[in-house]
Amino acid sequence: KEKTLAIIKPDGLAGNHTNKIKEIILDSGFSISREMIVQLDEDSVKRFYVEHSSKSFFPSLLKYMASGPVLIMVLEKESAVADWRAMIGPTDARKAKITHPYSIRAMCGLDLQQNCVHGSDSPDSAARETSFFFKESSSV
Ligand code: ATP
Repeated sequence: KEKTLAIIKPDGLAGNHTNKIKEIILDSGFSISREMIVQLDEDSVKRFYVEHSSKSFFPSLLKYMASGPVLIMVLEKESAVADWRAMIGPTDARKAKITHPYSIRAMCGLDLQQNCVHGSDSPDSAARETSFFFKESSSV
């Protein structure tokens, strides 16, 4: 089975979308093998999103991701990476409401930045991101 890293971002957790999102995850055939709620500081967000460090929205992204607790989950199923990316929908939650109305970001996200959830974009990113948050890569 493949693993991917999912994050319910501060707006998702604060907006009480967690139970609904987890229900969708389980109904779609994923198992949740690890999970934890953490309050990230800007320094850890900086390291997590290092590929965006030169972008103009980076300072704002750091503030957003450190603005409240997040729920981090390792999801497992066949094709977990691609399937979870397809389920969350496009980055811009406003556009998602029009083009992908049944996506998670359309349901729970607010705009281009506050888009409720994260999903690894490749199996390599999934491996890096999983070990970033969870010391052992084996399931509990
Ligand atoms: P994620 O990596 O969180 O799953 P993504 O792959 O859809 O999202 P990226 O381009 O990797 O999007 O951007 C990472 C995050 O940075 C986005 O999810 C969003 O919260 C924020 N972001 C991306 N582009 C912008 C932008 N132009 N303005 C503000 N915030 C942005």
